[in-house]
Amino acid sequence: MGRRYLIAGNWKCNGTLAENEERIKVFNEAGAIPENVDVALCVPSIHIPMVLSKVRKEITVGAQDCGSNDGNGAYTGEVGAHQIKDIGCTWVIIGHSERREGFGMAGEPVELCAEKTKVAIKNGLKVMFCIGEKKEERESGVTMEVCAKQMAPLAKAIEAKDWESIAIAYEPVWAIGTGLTATPEMAQETHKSIRTWVSENVSPEVAEAVRIQYGGSMKGANAKELLAQPDIDGGLIGGASLKADFFNVVNGIP
Ligand code: PGA
Repeated sequence: MGRRYLIAGNWKCNGTLAENEERIKVFNEAGAIPENVDVALCVPSIHIPMVLSKVRKEITVGAQDCGSNDGNGAYTGEVGAHQIKDIGCTWVIIGHSERREGFGMAGEPVELCAEKTKVAIKNGLKVMFCIGEKKEERESGVTMEVCAKQMAPLAKAIEAKDWESIAIAYEPVWAIGTGLTATPEMAQETHKSIRTWVSENVSPEVAEAVRIQYGGSMKGANAKELLAQPDIDGGLIGGASLKADFFNVVNGIP
């Protein structure tokens, strides 16, 4: 069997409780989810209990980050992977570029992202591990070098079997929230290179099995063409996941 598609919403820091309850209502009524698709919603941590209690069971729920701490401890402000798992989440996003770039503050180094991923998997979560180049990096032709540098600490930190719990989210930073999307050909080329990197640096079996999501201004209007590419196995969707359009992506699966 081929890889199942993974369509995930990343709500970022959006929504009051009432607004997000309304979004859940819209998605609960959005019709059947195709057989070959996994749908997940990564929501603000504070809304996770509400989403878990209200969302239909075919949609899994995730957090947008976790601490690197493995279990309880004196980590003021952190939410631990063990707590995210305990409350009923399936997923956690790690290393989103908005966290790596630090909202203008010191951001998260890739080594920390690899460590968080290891802890998250140990605690039973699945991880969407984000990678991707900035505009100037694409323009100077180093996209794959950048992606490889982001994945190398991960490959070092985890074991081959842990890759079952990982989806790689390729998100060109210049396409996030900008309305600029990589063309399907451009995205496919990078996804293919990422898969080749995994084949050479982890194993051909892991490369064949691992899902690589595209992220960056994906929406109903462009999803079909992106998802038709052989190495694009889903999406990580920000802006469009706040709207009913999210289900046009889910229904755009080839
Ligand atoms: P976007 O965000 O779809 O709004 O570009 C994607 C993401 O940041 O995961």
